[in-house]
Amino acid sequence: MEASVTNLAYSRLLKSRSKSATKVRNDLGDDAGNRVDQEKLAHAASLILEAIGENVFREGLRDTPARFARMFQELCYGVGVDASTEITCSFDEGSDGLVVVRDIGFNSMCEHHLVPFIGTANIAYLPKNGVVTGLSKLARVVELTSRRPQVQERMTEEIARAIEDAIDPSGVAVLVEAEHFCMSMRGIKKPGSKTITTLFKGTMKTDMEARAEALSLLRDK
Ligand SMILES: [Zn+2]
Repeated sequence: MEASVTNLAYSRLLKSRSKSATKVRNDLGDDAGNRVDQEKLAHAASLILEAIGENVFREGLRDTPARFARMFQELCYGVGVDASTEITCSFDEGSDGLVVVRDIGFNSMCEHHLVPFIGTANIAYLPKNGVVTGLSKLARVVELTSRRPQVQERMTEEIARAIEDAIDPSGVAVLVEAEHFCMSMRGIKKPGSKTITTLFKGTMKTDMEARAEALSLLRDK
């Protein structure tokens, strides 16, 4: 019975607004917009507010479900997208020297609690046959990988795999450092604690000297 009351409340809420929620687009393009069910997201937000005893019709909350839906579309546009597609160019620079990009900031979402984890990704790769990619492409890989419900361990692996798939380097090292809000604001409540994850591929996995050099450059000083 409760469910029907809830659904009734939600349909009244929908009628009370203009029918905008399902057609929201942002600069992510049509594909991203189509993958996300805006109406379902707004419904879910409305149910959560009801479940905690809120009045979903009061002034401050009236547009919250639609806002929540738009926010989730933005935060989760990377669901099901292969991050290696962000590496759209590669150049033959004839150099096999180590390439390192540090402190690529990201915001992601813990898939266990749906609260943020925020941090930096640090990437090193050793080109094979002089093939490199644009530095901003590495940042794009991090950005796309972070835009989905995640665990940090998998995110670290996905970043490394995307680089490996796109330019087939001799080795890749990725170090991700993040604060998880599910540890800061709930549960054990330890704000400021950092989780560090690493992933090594190719020579970075087998050659301890190459790994140590990469790690010394990736680590926060
Ligand atoms: Zn969590």
